[in-house]
Amino acid sequence: MDIAVIGSNMVDLIAYIDSMPKMGETIEAPDFKMGCGGKGANQAIAAAKLGASVMMITKVGDDIFADNTIRNFQHYGVNTDYVMKVSGVSSGVAPIFVDKSSQNRILIIKGANAHLKPSDIDNAEERLKKCKLFILQLEIPLETVYYAIDFANKHQIPVILNPAPASRELDIDYACKCDFFMPNETELEILTGLPVETMPQIQVAANTLLAKGLKNLIVTLGNKGSVWLRGNKITYIEPYKVNAVDTSGAGDAFIGCFAHYYIITGNVIESMKTASLFAAYSVTGQGTQSSYPNKDEFEQFRQ
Ligand code: ATP
Repeated sequence: MDIAVIGSNMVDLIAYIDSMPKMGETIEAPDFKMGCGGKGANQAIAAAKLGASVMMITKVGDDIFADNTIRNFQHYGVNTDYVMKVSGVSSGVAPIFVDKSSQNRILIIKGANAHLKPSDIDNAEERLKKCKLFILQLEIPLETVYYAIDFANKHQIPVILNPAPASRELDIDYACKCDFFMPNETELEILTGLPVETMPQIQVAANTLLAKGLKNLIVTLGNKGSVWLRGNKITYIEPYKVNAVDTSGAGDAFIGCFAHYYIITGNVIESMKTASLFAAYSVTGQGTQSSYPNKDEFEQFRQ
């Protein structure tokens, strides 16, 4: 396996409604969709769709969502040998209400994701130590994230840490042990407590993290592109101009694609440019994983 994603999976339960129900009210939703998501799963599937060999280390519950999630990984070619079932626990689910004006209300139930433990990394040791790159996020327990980082360091495997959702509990010393730290601008704002509305502000906020010893900081900026900061160097990557329909999962698309091309080329700027294009494609379609192009679709889009 080239890439190990150690992270979350979620089932999105999306009810499309005319207006939000009031307290105690029962209303009918004209439409409903179920989709596979979770930051870890999205990033794994983004890379796998491009042809990377990816293994997923995650946990599902013992409910009807579990088999669906495992089938979904397999459909996209993600290795599920270490997608483990936890009995007596629900899978990770996200009930989402979307009203007519596209406003949403989301609940996250971590379920089995909260049960991913350091011992699960040990159980997969033989496979994990042969991987070329780890990708981690913060939808699983922090102790497991830290353990995975130490494991990767011990085996000299590069790590991408996507600090999402942002947590001020994150020990920045662990972020410094990663090769790439990849927040979006909101996560940078939460982690530093500093404003990030303009590029100079982003640079000031980023510098507070770099001063603590971060190696490479890549901040995704939505339709404003992305930026790579290391030491006192800064490289800005323009976004691709597209007609955006649904931007959810764009950050995950960017990270999965970046990981795949970085392993192949070792070139950060080229990998960021390719990831920007891949993420731009993803915002032109509805949904998260379903909006990511496969290798052929992406090659066509690139020309
Ligand atoms: P999510 O949490 O929904 O996965 P995010 O907030 O983590 O997304 P963004 O920073 O919004 O991630 O987007 C990631 C990358 O996707 C951006 O750096 C950019 O390259 C690309 N992107 C996002 N939105 C657009 C857009 N409207 N047009 C073109 N490219 C976009």
